[in-house]
Amino acid sequence: MSAHPVKFFPRVEQRANLLDLDREGMRAFFVELGEKPFRADQVLKWIYHHGVTDFAEMTNVSRPLRERLAEIAEIRPPETITCQDSKDGTRKWLFRMDGGNSIECVFIPDEERNTLCISTQVGCALDCSFCATARAGFNRNLTTAEIIGQLWRANRSLLHDHPQGAGGVSNVVLMGMGEPLLNMKAVVPALKLMIDDFGFGLSKRHVTVSTSGVVPKMDKLRDAVDVSLAVSLHAPNDELRNELVPLNRSHPIEELMAACRRWLEGGNRKKHIMFEYVMLDGVNDQPGHARELAALVGDMPAKVNLIPFNPFEGSGYRRSPEEAIERFAKILRDRGVFAIARRTRGDDIDAACGQLAGEVEDRSKRWRRFAEPRFGERAS
Ligand code: SAH
Repeated sequence: MSAHPVKFFPRVEQRANLLDLDREGMRAFFVELGEKPFRADQVLKWIYHHGVTDFAEMTNVSRPLRERLAEIAEIRPPETITCQDSKDGTRKWLFRMDGGNSIECVFIPDEERNTLCISTQVGCALDCSFCATARAGFNRNLTTAEIIGQLWRANRSLLHDHPQGAGGVSNVVLMGMGEPLLNMKAVVPALKLMIDDFGFGLSKRHVTVSTSGVVPKMDKLRDAVDVSLAVSLHAPNDELRNELVPLNRSHPIEELMAACRRWLEGGNRKKHIMFEYVMLDGVNDQPGHARELAALVGDMPAKVNLIPFNPFEGSGYRRSPEEAIERFAKILRDRGVFAIARRTRGDDIDAACGQLAGEVEDRSKRWRRFAEPRFGERAS
């Protein structure tokens, strides 16, 4: 302990974090300053192409403007608390969020792509029975800066010292903590920055939003930005889905499937939907479930992603045996449904699907409800 601890003086006036602004927002910001809109494009390129956060380095911007920007604005990605590497190349970061919480973000390289899985909320307000994030409760939505900042930070870290990170991130999935469609206000500008040529310039087919099925927001997302969609289905009928994904009680499967069909309509590119299905031993992995699932999605341009359940302490579920997953996949394929069994990655550092936790100052008091075992759960 130092005899003269450093005092913390909160900033009197908050500076604008430019990571909160997509191209449209950034142009409006510069116009408000009395500048030409193309200044926005220059600054975006500095931030996202060159990884610059210091206005002084933006050499094609006039000195007076750089000085003014340094006074009123900042480029502030989340701070890294820890960075862990798995033996399979997966890397996980814990990022500090304003207000004392932290969230996790995972990089998953394979032969074809460098995927980053990012979070959209501190915790999650939904209550899926098999998900570790749900147990952590919910604190708040992330800002656009906190969402795009994960990608910014990850890219810098990967380019710096990851053996497979040389090309940076090629694919982004919003499959970390949180329900992206319950945070549209911040998520949509972040998605726009991901696919904008002045931002990260990712292919829109390589940016995927995953939802538990917030039906009205699926239509809003389709109208707002052109990216890919994944739907966390996990059960082929309402009775089972009501228990695993309680949101189903508000938006049952029929409504969800209708929203999926609307999503697939229009547009001029060939679209498909990815259905995610977590394989829970003895709960949703029986041949009858596979047949029901095939009937549900068989006539859609769809892929089914079978995710082996990743256990966490006190989950009460078990992962389906490999043979059950193979049998399930075969039933789907025999009925013409494209099905893949996802390999589990990064489980030695708790970085696999549904294991992301972070530090959530829970405001939902959800833990109280876990005193009793719930549907399909076994006492462990
Ligand atoms: N709320 C969104 C985004 C989170 S995505 C959604 O539900 O789609 C996280 C994905 O991992 C979802 O498909 C989720 O159902 C799955 N998942 C959650 N917990 C898991 C676990 N313990 N093992 C495997 N997959 C899990």
